[in-house]
Amino acid sequence: MNNLTLLSQEIIYWQKIFNSEFIFETGCYKTCSSFCCRWESKDMPFRIIPKGGTLFYLPKEYAYISEYGKVTELEPFKMKAKFFDKEITLYYKHCNDDANCNIKFSRSLYCKLYPFLPVFDIDGNLKDIKYISVYDVTAEIIKQKTPCYVKDLKEKYLKHWQENPETISLLTEPYTLFYLMVGNILHDNYVKTLTNNLELISLTGNMFWKKWEKLYLAGKLINKAQLEHDIEILYLEMNKKYNFVYE
Ligand code: SF4
Ligand code: SF4
Repeated sequence: MNNLTLLSQEIIYWQKIFNSEFIFETGCYKTCSSFCCRWESKDMPFRIIPKGGTLFYLPKEYAYISEYGKVTELEPFKMKAKFFDKEITLYYKHCNDDANCNIKFSRSLYCKLYPFLPVFDIDGNLKDIKYISVYDVTAEIIKQKTPCYVKDLKEKYLKHWQENPETISLLTEPYTLFYLMVGNILHDNYVKTLTNNLELISLTGNMFWKKWEKLYLAGKLINKAQLEHDIEILYLEMNKKYNFVYE
């Protein structure tokens, strides 16, 4: 379970995140039947991945939400990657609640940032925006349309966040910055591994997703050794710059 005990300043920090919004597209779910919370589409015929959305939580975020927000009693699943003698962990739960936020679940930072992954440099300057969901990243690579119009607003949000850095300054706190930068490493590693898999990329439609799902769940679409190496380099830089220690 989550045994993290938050310091008082961490509670204040996660409370601020909890009360913040980063994407302002009021009512966008009405245009797509909450596509990003359901992923129900004949174009993405998952056979093993359960229906519904996935909520990702940073461990300290989960510690905060478990105490002050709403999570189900079920244990979260954990994604892990090793670096040095440590393990970076990301928690996730399936959200099968038909987009009924705030009944069973408090929205996570991941949900609040959807569909974008802000890409910061180590100084906390926003350099780019990428897609935060592996489904959207994949759909873009295979040139498959999804019903999400917000995905097409990348330029708008990049400009807005760069011109108003105070609107995303919370995300540059070292713990969250580290996770977002790891997210960017993971994104690029995945894109490279997927696009190098010419056999998979040559498939289309159902055939593509059927094979993709198996390879993805087996961890075959990530170069793990490279991922861990790149996280180690990032960690050394974060440690040097911020005295950052991952715990
Ligand atoms: S972010 Fe996109 S997919 Fe999600 S509810 Fe809004 S329009 Fe639909
Ligand atoms: S918590 Fe809300 S926004 Fe996040 S996946 Fe579930 S229904 Fe969607």
